[in-house]
Amino acid sequence: MRALVAGGAGFVGSHLVERLVDAGHEVVVVDDFSTGRRENLAAVSHQVTIVDADISDAAAVDAIEGPFDQVYNLASPASPVDYHRLPIHTLMTGSMGVKNTLDLAHAHGARYLLASTSEVYGDPQVHPQPETYLGHVNPVGPRSVYDEAKRFGEAMTAAYRREFGVDTKIVRIFNTFGPRMRVEDGRAIPNFVHQALTGREITVAGDGHQTRSICYVDDLVGGLVAMMESTATGPVNLGNPEEISMIDLATWICDLAESGSQIVHVPRPVDDPQIRRPDITLAGELLGWAPSTTAEIGLKATIEDFRNRR
Ligand code: NAD
Ligand code: UDP
Repeated sequence: MRALVAGGAGFVGSHLVERLVDAGHEVVVVDDFSTGRRENLAAVSHQVTIVDADISDAAAVDAIEGPFDQVYNLASPASPVDYHRLPIHTLMTGSMGVKNTLDLAHAHGARYLLASTSEVYGDPQVHPQPETYLGHVNPVGPRSVYDEAKRFGEAMTAAYRREFGVDTKIVRIFNTFGPRMRVEDGRAIPNFVHQALTGREITVAGDGHQTRSICYVDDLVGGLVAMMESTATGPVNLGNPEEISMIDLATWICDLAESGSQIVHVPRPVDDPQIRRPDITLAGELLGWAPSTTAEIGLKATIEDFRNRR
């Protein structure tokens, strides 16, 4: 198998690349390093071809040398801090980038997997969220550059299946964490871990009663590969239903890191979803997939990784 991983130098992408290399696949990574890092691929740098290109650039994507059997598209800023910093880039990556990589998959007769997100459900009014829920997204708010780009990407992916018969798959990924998240990533878990390890104040947004459901990266990667290898087309939710409030998460990380950091409350971002938990019944039925790593084990591994990188 020869796989292209767009966004392969990022947090999730680099773990996926390692899994594919371990399975004996030949892997090409295309990444513009807007939020990814070469160090993430250090362990496999001799086995992987890295193309430094922006997937929004049609000519650059067209020039990537095939053939490919599989295209995983994980390219996109994913942290709210990153996509607020890179709003147009995020929109272009989620729209033209998806189209360009679909064209590549079409040209090579490759399977195509789009990494979509729970953010397509917006600030959900149904809980937990099944794939049939159509979402509650503000189309002009600051988060819309990400949410609407992903919704457009899903529509484009579905259209390539209908119009050209491309063998496409859509997964909706819920909050995933683990080793290699950037210290300055801006998402809650890397922020809390870094703050706890450096004795800084832990920044909980609002009263901290908003929830997320957190999935360890190794489990997620298993789901991505299972989806690619299945006959399912999706959308399929991938996440861990272990739901926790941000105030409890901050306190727990402080305890696990044996930190004396104090919790402070900072303003909530605009349109910040209040609750989020995946309904993963479909992933179980179609892929036989369910996460198996507890949040505690995942958080300990993440804290250890951040400690080692300091
Ligand atoms: P990340 O920011 O660590 O990785 C994204 C990678 O894509 C980076 O290497 C970045 O440089 C690259 N990239 C961005 N724009 C690009 C472009 N135009 N051309 C080429 N490369 C580009 O983020 P992540 O957490 O690893 O997320 C990976 C994917 O999974 C994203 O598509 C994200 O939307 C999706 N996802 C992640 C989560 C999560 O909790 N981590 C949740 C839902 C969805
Ligand atoms: N959050 C927080 N402190 C931080 C960063 C984030 O309390 O330092 C909150 C954020 O407002 C949101 C939750 O944690 O309610 C999850 O945010 P994250 O950026 O990790 O993911 P997303 O909002 O994309 O689910």
